[in-house]
Amino acid sequence: MKELMMVYYSEAKSARLTGKKVAWITSGGPVEPLIAMDIIPVYPENHGAMIGASKMGAGLCEKAEAMGYSNDLCSYARSDIACATVNGGPIGGLPRPDMLVCCNNICGTVLKWYEVQARYFDVPLFILDTPFCHTGYSPEAARYVRAQIDEYILFIEEACKKKYDFERLREVGHLSYEGQQLWQAVLETAAHRPAPMSAFDAFYHLALIVTLRGTKEAVNYYKQLLAGMQDRVARGISVVPNEKYRLLWDNIPIWPRTRWLSKKFASHNACLVADTYTSAWCGAMKYIDESKFLDSMAEAYTRIYLNIGVDEMARMVIEMIDKYDVDGFVLHSNRSCKPYSFGQLDIQRIVEKERGIPCLMIEADMVDDRSFSESQISTRIDAFMEIIKERKKT
Ligand code: SF4
Repeated sequence: MKELMMVYYSEAKSARLTGKKVAWITSGGPVEPLIAMDIIPVYPENHGAMIGASKMGAGLCEKAEAMGYSNDLCSYARSDIACATVNGGPIGGLPRPDMLVCCNNICGTVLKWYEVQARYFDVPLFILDTPFCHTGYSPEAARYVRAQIDEYILFIEEACKKKYDFERLREVGHLSYEGQQLWQAVLETAAHRPAPMSAFDAFYHLALIVTLRGTKEAVNYYKQLLAGMQDRVARGISVVPNEKYRLLWDNIPIWPRTRWLSKKFASHNACLVADTYTSAWCGAMKYIDESKFLDSMAEAYTRIYLNIGVDEMARMVIEMIDKYDVDGFVLHSNRSCKPYSFGQLDIQRIVEKERGIPCLMIEADMVDDRSFSESQISTRIDAFMEIIKERKKT
């Protein structure tokens, strides 16, 4: 993984020398049309996760606040906006973009964030507007989003000054679909008891399905990873020794604290066997028709986890509780990500009513560890695990 990511970032950073173009794109944006035209996609959110994991988030967020941005703003946006001005962070900043592609299927924050960066770098910005799907996908929404996909293709043609390669898009579409299928199969190995991997491993292996979706590299990587996990299942190897309790995680990881949290849960013989975040990168696969990739892509990218109503989210959470046979549900109320966090109390209530398992809500932030109170969270996890242990005894 490290090698693949190093190659990916060095190719992106030397794009000017190789004559390739770089597009910054939101994590939920349709990347396949870029890859098909040899444009290197770069994800400020993935970079934000790296900043968080290397514990550089608080410093960069403070810098953004000194620039005048509120500390209520998402810490991916704050760290990226600050980082661009100093080429900071663990990889010395992201490569300069030739264009920006913003899809609001994840939140409204990205619209303003990408406008700021488009002005800063003085590059064109394409916005793909995906209506929120409270209960379903209407024919009007389908037409509206599909029309914008055509505009997206024109935007790319204009940026590359050449005709769009639809044949290549078909190949990229197949690879994207195959990569998502493999990613799902990897995640599903954790349904086995004991689980060969945890959500903490998934947070790490996620990087390629985000950054290289639609490439052979991602497909090959996940094929190998799946074989490795299947081998562990066959040999009964568990990621948490003495796995006794199985948990489901909701929301973006607390990147600076993943190691601490993983040890904390493991000390209670508890394994986070699944999470709603990493499964979002294969959750909309059911809407993709490989033979009509461009048409079905519009629906798949509109009906992603963060762009659906709370009832549908809760239904998906309950499906995961059943599939992974979990004993408890841990919700990260993420100060940064409002769309992910606002409906959590309702989802918690629905889960408690429908499945009766204990739920724990912890307040933190995915990047800015000034919002993490170790002693408070430690005490709450201990108390939560005691409840689960008592329940399992009866
Ligand atoms: S608010 Fe949430 S969805 Fe939006 S950019 Fe930040 S983390 Fe991503």
